[in-house]
Amino acid sequence: VITIGIDVGGTKIAAGAVDADGTVLARRRIATEAEHPQAVVAGIAKVASELRAAAPAAVAVGVGAAGLIDVERGVVRMAPNIAWHDVHLRDLLTDRLGLPAIVDNDANVAAFGESLFGAGRGAGDQAMVTVGTGIGGGLVIGGAIYRGARGLGAELGHVILNEGGAPCACGNRGCFEAMASGNSIGRRARERAAEPEAKTVVELAGGIVEQITGEIVGEAAKKGDDFALSVFADTGKWLGVGLASLVNLLDPDVIVVGGGAAAGTGDLLLAPARVAMEERVIGHHRRVLPPVVPARLGYDAGLVGAAALARTLV
Ligand SMILES: [Zn+2]
Repeated sequence: VITIGIDVGGTKIAAGAVDADGTVLARRRIATEAEHPQAVVAGIAKVASELRAAAPAAVAVGVGAAGLIDVERGVVRMAPNIAWHDVHLRDLLTDRLGLPAIVDNDANVAAFGESLFGAGRGAGDQAMVTVGTGIGGGLVIGGAIYRGARGLGAELGHVILNEGGAPCACGNRGCFEAMASGNSIGRRARERAAEPEAKTVVELAGGIVEQITGEIVGEAAKKGDDFALSVFADTGKWLGVGLASLVNLLDPDVIVVGGGAAAGTGDLLLAPARVAMEERVIGHHRRVLPPVVPARLGYDAGLVGAAALARTLV
């Protein structure tokens, strides 16, 4: 069974025709014209039509998009990067292609993809945390995406870890995202930039403290810079604090960590996260803890997961 999966990101739309093993048979990729919401809708319809032509056997379409999604109605209620309000994406795709369609949150479909074909393969219960500039997440429980009663559940990035902690974009303080995202790596380094040990990181930012980002700290950490490593250790500890709460809540088979801040930095974040998690899970001496593993599908997780979700329609 072949289905079409479409991953709508803030900078690009990645789409593919995917078979039941998760193999991508044909691909399309175009830029997201985020400032022109109608053009984004037209772009989605265009890549979907092209893939329909390339894979005439396709039987359904799945879309993952950032934002608040009403899965039942197939509507994107709002998106963080695109000026979308109540966009009826599912009906538009069904009208255009004559195929059943489903629209879900991008983190949910990525988690679904990893649970079927990636790092969580074979796991019925999987928590996925995506550490990028922010933190996203998705839960697969009993082999299905967990969305909650109104479709707004599994916002793992805004689980509060430290009520007096750093401000979060959502208006609260000390959210998982504020404490352990790529942006929080940059913030920690900027706060400590006056320390003599920060010299290399400050130099990498052109001598301008305000320009220190998580990427720059990551670059220095990969070269073994002690200051950058200590910032990663601190951030990894907070990642582990959040993961401990997820384990106490869900006791999943596996925890998958994806996203740009975790990719390419090897175990710089995951090693301290595992230690911090293990110390905090209730009864940790007497139980098997879920492995904390890096995501495996990379940028394909969204489109492969969206295509797999479409398969549930047929
Ligand atoms: Zn928040």
